[in-house]
Amino acid sequence: MGWRWWPGAGSNRPRGEWLVRMGLEMYDLYASGDLPGHTALRVGSYNAPPVNPQVYRSLCKYFDAQVMYPERLVWSMLHDCRRIAADGQVLFTLLTHTQARLNGRQLVVESAAPHDGETAQALTVETIVNATGAWVDATLAKLPIPSERLIGGTRGTHLFLFHQQLHEILGGKGIYAEAEDGRPIFVLPLGDCVMVGTTDEPFDGPPETAVATEAEIAYLLRALGSVFPQVAVPRSDVNFHGCGVRPLPYVDKKTSAGAITRRHWLHRHEDASLPLVSVIGGKLTTCRSLAEEATAQILGWLNKTVVANSRERVLPGNARDNEQLVIDWASLAHQSGLSHASVEHAWSLLGTMTPQVLSDALANQRGLLPGMQMPESVAQFAIEHEQAATLEDLVERRLMLLYHRDITRPALQRLAQMLIDAGRMPAEDLDAAVEQCIARLARHYGKQVSESK
Ligand SMILES: Cc1cc2nc3c(=O)[nH]c(=O)nc-3n(C[C@H](O)[C@H](O)[C@H](O)COP(=O)(O)OP(=O)(O)OC[C@H]3O[C@@H](n4cnc5c(N)ncnc54)[C@H](O)[C@@H]3O)c2cc1C
Repeated sequence: MGWRWWPGAGSNRPRGEWLVRMGLEMYDLYASGDLPGHTALRVGSYNAPPVNPQVYRSLCKYFDAQVMYPERLVWSMLHDCRRIAADGQVLFTLLTHTQARLNGRQLVVESAAPHDGETAQALTVETIVNATGAWVDATLAKLPIPSERLIGGTRGTHLFLFHQQLHEILGGKGIYAEAEDGRPIFVLPLGDCVMVGTTDEPFDGPPETAVATEAEIAYLLRALGSVFPQVAVPRSDVNFHGCGVRPLPYVDKKTSAGAITRRHWLHRHEDASLPLVSVIGGKLTTCRSLAEEATAQILGWLNKTVVANSRERVLPGNARDNEQLVIDWASLAHQSGLSHASVEHAWSLLGTMTPQVLSDALANQRGLLPGMQMPESVAQFAIEHEQAATLEDLVERRLMLLYHRDITRPALQRLAQMLIDAGRMPAEDLDAAVEQCIARLARHYGKQVSESK
């Protein structure tokens, strides 16, 4: 459930009650029938989140959806691709690479994982979709394909707090508000965390180097303090922060970051030796319509027709019937020999695939990562079925360990050992890999690793 409110007199650039309500009217029309319509109430009324009455007069309530971990959503889709390919008896190969070079109609791709034993491969390809987000221009330069600049990304920072009082105040609801400069900001529950975001600043550097600045952190904490002045949130309460670059279209310097369109489109590179498109813009929320548009367009070029879409398709981890999503946690914990909390952590990553993945726990006597609630079986699954090749893959993009209050050094050592056992890393690299991971977590996310537990 989401809440949207608007400021009263005294704030810098208020949008005003009627503008917000008009937007929500359109939202209601768009979602007609599927969700209850929005309602409005006064600040301070029964059951309204206790936002600052000095600044805000009214609230609007509406319903929204939340993707907890986009990384896991992507993996769910990849598992589905494997299933579709197996059902249709066609080949589906997933290569994780950082460099691709076009040589006529051949694409030479090189492995991103230095120790996985793969060498460069030359593939004959019919078409290329450059869907590398904020890296679209860098990918084109490496192919190389001459192109004007397509992406002018903006950086966005989020803060993550384990703050019980704030979590309780939210009561499962998200708050959208305006910051001191009129920009929209939000305070959302995300599992055990509270997420506060976001900033929107032009960013020209390599996307992987974007890191939250102290100025951004202070801005978001100030905005939070203005919404909930009754809650003390010092800088030291920020458990970690994240910063990403939105793959927005390149525009002239006069356009403000907030005014850049969030629409998506496909840019065809007419000079390329084969059909090649770059994906510009887009949101997680529009990924399915973007995929449908791209598929229709590309099949058209190849003189083929669309024969299916995924609108009614249930992704692995989800279920068609809500009843199948109601899980008997106690019996699952009992069957796998794990605690309720551990099963819940696995569920937040794998959904209905959890029983299958945890069946390995009892069969192979796998417990938890040392000092953490994450079952080792989930890490084993990521290594065997989700191409985790490095410690960072496991920590940041498969097990989502950043979202645990504490990551322990022994847990990182255990994960490194599992990669070694699977042949993904030479044994002599263990200590260096752990140190490198700890340093990256501190530098990139401000996340401290506990020495032992
Ligand atoms: C701060 C922030 C907040 C956002 N909030 C929302 C939101 O609330 N709702 C919403 O719907 N959307 C939101 N978005 C937008 C959303 O995250 C993006 O639109 C979406 O991630 C774009 O997906 P993509 O697959 O095109 O690009 P990405 O998710 O960026 O994926 C591109 C991938 O390509 C990889 N790559 C790069 N170069 C190469 C190469 N040469 N070879 C192989 N792989 C390569 C990268 O490592 C990356 O994994 C937000 C984005 C940011 C940054």
